[in-house]
Amino acid sequence: MAYRAEYIWIDGKKPTSLLRSKTKVLADGADLPIWGFDGSSTEQAPGTQSDCVLNPVKVVPDPIRGGDDVLVMCEVLNVDMTPHETNTRAAAVTALEKYGDQEPWFGLEQEYTFYKDGRPHGWPIGGFPAPQGGYYCGIGADEIWGRDIVEDHTLACMEAGISISGTNAEVMIGQWEFQIGPLDTVAVGDELWLARWLLYRIAEDYDISATLEPKPVAGDWNGAGMHTNFSTRAMRESWDPIIEACEALGEKAQEHVESYGAGIERRLTGMHETAPWSEFSYGVSDRGASVRIPWQVDQEKKGYIEDRRPNANADPYVVAALMTDTVCSKLA
Ligand code: ADP
Ligand code: MN
Ligand code: MN
Ligand code: MN
Repeated sequence: MAYRAEYIWIDGKKPTSLLRSKTKVLADGADLPIWGFDGSSTEQAPGTQSDCVLNPVKVVPDPIRGGDDVLVMCEVLNVDMTPHETNTRAAAVTALEKYGDQEPWFGLEQEYTFYKDGRPHGWPIGGFPAPQGGYYCGIGADEIWGRDIVEDHTLACMEAGISISGTNAEVMIGQWEFQIGPLDTVAVGDELWLARWLLYRIAEDYDISATLEPKPVAGDWNGAGMHTNFSTRAMRESWDPIIEACEALGEKAQEHVESYGAGIERRLTGMHETAPWSEFSYGVSDRGASVRIPWQVDQEKKGYIEDRRPNANADPYVVAALMTDTVCSKLA
């Protein structure tokens, strides 16, 4: 039978790109071709030269449609087959080609917030919910909103073969997290973008939107981040490279913060388990530091570090490419 391929790509919206997708019906057994779209409708091209190219980079079984149907993560190319200016994956490929011998691994913690009727899911009409305290890893209908979507999404990721490694309810009401990885500099971006698409798509069926807004509610409510856990083979084997990696990140702190997602100064205030965006620090078990060394890593004197700065709305290709370049150029 003919089958459906959902071509998924990242658009050119500023300051934060969104996902787009469309369906191609293919003959039984036919290969996935490159395809095109109207870049003038996605902030990727002027109307007079509107064609952009979709180049498949990762194909997984479609857990929603089932059967032979597939999801196709694509990169965007110009018609001369060079990377489009919005194609952030290209730099991740370059970084991995350069430093792949150091075996960089990433584990991303994607936090997000469910919205219903224009407010965070669970937020009462015309009032305030109980303050933070019981929502994180909470249980019960008085603490938790949207678990049915989370369960569906986790299963969908597993069926698609995406490396989801866990989920938890977060500190703010209606806020959740899933983790992807560990995977290399390029694969972690491919799989996180696919997992984001599945989240939006599944929540659609519940009339709920999932957002990556980094500070959904101002004031005494936690923001949403994309903590980035990182290691190289050397870091997984001994202690000194762990410290060298932290120091290397400190030397380029400003450049990193600027690439870690729009609105980062609203989230990295120094409150709510963050370090101020303008200062760099690292420490063992310190959730108020820019970079945390987990306690097991300190105990075993090897493992990985957690960069807590990236926003939920950060582009994983950009974050992973930058961390690979910054740390691996020092460890080389
Ligand atoms: P937290 O305690 O900060 O909430 P999580 O358990 O949510 O941490 O996420 C930890 C992430 O770190 C997971 O995605 C996991 O796959 C990843 N991870 C574990 N070991 C490594 C490693 N050596 N290198 C990179 N990432 C790793
Ligand atoms: Mn976590
Ligand atoms: Mn978290
Ligand atoms: Mn974390």
